[in-house]
Formats: sequence, structure tokens, C-alpha cells
Amino acid sequence: MEQERTNRNCPLWGTETCARLNMRACRGCPAENKDVRECDDVRDDVDTLYALLPEEGIASLFTGETCSLCKGENKGKRESYGLFDMGHADPRAVKKKLSLFRGKTYGFVVPLQFGCCKDCRRRFQLLSWLGMLTTILILGAALLVVAQEPVAQSLRNVWRGLPLLLMLLAAGISFLAGKVLTRVLRSRFNERTYMDLREQPLVRRMLSLDWECVAEGKYPQPVFTRKRLRYGVGTAVPAPAEEKSEHDGENLD
Ligand SMILES: [Zn+2]
Repeated sequence: MEQERTNRNCPLWGTETCARLNMRACRGCPAENKDVRECDDVRDDVDTLYALLPEEGIASLFTGETCSLCKGENKGKRESYGLFDMGHADPRAVKKKLSLFRGKTYGFVVPLQFGCCKDCRRRFQLLSWLGMLTTILILGAALLVVAQEPVAQSLRNVWRGLPLLLMLLAAGISFLAGKVLTRVLRSRFNERTYMDLREQPLVRRMLSLDWECVAEGKYPQPVFTRKRLRYGVGTAVPAPAEEKSEHDGENLD
């Protein structure tokens, strides 16, 4: 869909801030119906956010034709995107850090969009359901055996609670097996893919700039999608150099 940024009366129209906000339309933009002073606040927010990002920006993750999650020289062809949010505290609100309710609130959140190849996507997806699948398979098999009346009867003859005890044991074993299998496969996949997103070079760089992964857990997962986000902060593709200087010119006031 085409952009509809048509409100030329907006103090931010056509400025670098407008390009960085990268809204589809003026309607729904943070600067919609705002006066000059409020628009200055929006500009200040966007400038602060961009000052926190790595200088090289984040667009290179999704603009290339190759996978940004592959390790090494031979990178796969991009066929989908892994979305992954990173958050940063607002440095202008440092005092709030002392608040009891600091928790995990971020002043800024930007979506990273990793261009991703088929293999990397499959590796992540396999690991995300492997534990559950292993549990279901082992537990299901145990249930099938114990549910056979002759088997159940002979178990009950030993001790009434034995069938239940065996099911509980199977549950424990299947859970552990899922964990072990996941760990083994992750370390194997990790030779080809940044299975720990914190090791991905741009994420590592952002972590060093005090960004945090919004997703919880030891190995936060990206969310895969065929189409990337095209609108909103962090989704803009930087304009070519000559176009940019034109915009910069408009920015001087
Ligand atoms: Zn890949």
C-alpha cells in the first residue's frame, strides 16, 4: 500500500523526523493534530531514539537479500523475517529508574527485522516445539502401554498405585528428554545460525548500547513472518545520500 502522508500543514511534514517515524498515513501519526510545540516534543523523542541506535542503523537487517541470522560467509537467501523487539530506557527519565515500579518498562521499543533464510527459520521453529513434541510422544507411548488392561492389571497386582507412578515417571523422563534434545540440537544448529540472538552482531552492538531484549527467557525467540513491517519507527529504509541531503535542507529552520 502506498504512503499517504498528505498533511503538508504538519510542522513535521517532509522532515527527517517524518521519514524516521515512517507512518503509512498522517492519520494515526504521533504528530497528528499537534501544535508546533508538541511536534517539537515528537521530534525530540525520535531524535533521542535515533541517538541511542547504532550509527549504522538497523535497516541493514532487512534490506539485504541474504539471511542476517546465518553465521559465516555462506549466507542463505532471505525468504522471511524474524521480528524481535528491543527496548531501551528513556535516558531523559533517569530518575524513574529509582521507582519501585521500574520493572520492564522501556522508554523506547524498536522492532528488529532479521531477514531470514528457510533453514534458519526452520531451526528456530523446530526448537520452539521440540520439547513439547518429545513430551507428548513419550507420554503418549507410556499411556498406550499402561492403558492395556492386562498390563495395568499385572502392574496393579504389584501395587495399586504403580500405573500412576509409572505415568508420573514417564512425564518426568519425557520432560527431561525434551530439554536434553533441545539443548543438543541448539548447540548443533548454533554452528550455522545465531540461535542465541544476543550473539547476532547488531544485537550484540545494541546490548552494548544498553538496549535489552523485550522477549523474556534464556533464548528469546523471534516471531517469523513472510512480510516485514513497513511502517512505524525503526522500519524506514534510509534514503540514498543525495535525497537525504535534500531532506536535511528542509530540516533547517
Ligand atoms: Zn539463515
